[in-house]
Amino acid sequence: MVAAPPVDAARYRLANVGVAVCLLEDASGLTSDHDGIALADIDIADGRIAAVRSAGATEPEGAVVDLRRGLVWPCFVDMHTHLDKGHIWERAPNPDGSFDQALATVGRDRAANWSAEDLRPRIEFGLRCSYAHGTAAIRTHLDTDESQAGITWPLFREIKQEWAGRIELQAATICVMDDFVGPPGERLADLVADCGGMLGGVTYMMPGLEEGLDRVFRLAADRGLDLDFHVDESLDPAARSLRLIAEAALRNGFQGRVVAGHCCSLAMQPEDDVARTLDLLAEAGIAIVSLPMCNLYLQDRRPGRTPRSRGVTLLHELKERGIPVAVASDNCRDPFYGFGDHDMLEVFTQAVRIAHLDRPYGDWPRAVTATPAGVMGLDGTGRVAAGAPADLVCFSGRRYSELLSRREPDRVVLRAGRAVDTALPSYEELDHLVYGAET
Ligand SMILES: [Zn+2]
Repeated sequence: MVAAPPVDAARYRLANVGVAVCLLEDASGLTSDHDGIALADIDIADGRIAAVRSAGATEPEGAVVDLRRGLVWPCFVDMHTHLDKGHIWERAPNPDGSFDQALATVGRDRAANWSAEDLRPRIEFGLRCSYAHGTAAIRTHLDTDESQAGITWPLFREIKQEWAGRIELQAATICVMDDFVGPPGERLADLVADCGGMLGGVTYMMPGLEEGLDRVFRLAADRGLDLDFHVDESLDPAARSLRLIAEAALRNGFQGRVVAGHCCSLAMQPEDDVARTLDLLAEAGIAIVSLPMCNLYLQDRRPGRTPRSRGVTLLHELKERGIPVAVASDNCRDPFYGFGDHDMLEVFTQAVRIAHLDRPYGDWPRAVTATPAGVMGLDGTGRVAAGAPADLVCFSGRRYSELLSRREPDRVVLRAGRAVDTALPSYEELDHLVYGAET
């Protein structure tokens, strides 16, 4: 059991904590082990981290909480989610688990149900799970066709303000590229800009893609918006829209941030092609976010056949090339992914196992913390640094082999140095939405 810090103490020390040096802004004076973990004391004063020093190096000034070598992480950053789709599984299950049926099932559910009264409790449910698990910042994609945009985006703006200080919330459109054409496209971009969001859509090899990309880059540039795309979410080696996005960013001299999510087909392409695409991504400064749990669920799924290819993009090769690489949770209990609890420890655990992010772990913990924080423009989030808010997650696991083997339900989440309520919302709260008249 992790010991909770004294609730009322303005100054206290988290003593004997294990901290991954890759998550520290300044690791000088600390000695790390073969997994890059150092034993440290973290002094907290007035809600901020006052100092991080080698364990026992100095005398404590206030109360002491001995974490007995338990690992301490900065709060997580979950930079690719779909909070508007979340938790609809029981009323809208995916009949065969395929991508096509996910798309069709969500489309029907959206048309039938997605009022603000339906969206708000489901979005808040996801946010409350995330907060309780230790996440401090989230980017969600929002389904944005013409009939839905006017409902979802103003609601997002309200919820973003309501959650300020607890979860930093960002949002991007997810729609087809044709939704950006002409006056309707201009109006959509204006609405998103007005609601503090960014633009994005689904890209794959389609006629007119280059022209469509130029259009969305221009809409974003004109309004100072960032871009976040769903890219090549298939195992088709001919799906090369990732490269076209990099070329469009360079061709348009785009000054904002660009993120490409999924990029599954990159893993199916010849080495020479991959190398050229990585060069362009690095040159354009594009960040990649991988969603390995959702990829495992949807990719290479055919009835009665064991999946061979798992659809996870080239995490190691991208990072080796200097391209920012993040891992995130994606969908949660909806037709695109039938499971999930908005827990970034689970996401990191699964990513380590799926993509071999161990041996060595290196700086992979940054993929769910500091790297997405940087991509989202949230300096100071997702790292352990003197002067930063004491937004920390304290685990009982002392080594990765312990942390990544148990679910850590007794973790302590500190926000501005205070332990927060980590009780998860009950599924019963959504019964009236997902079971309707049955309940
Ligand atoms: Zn997604």
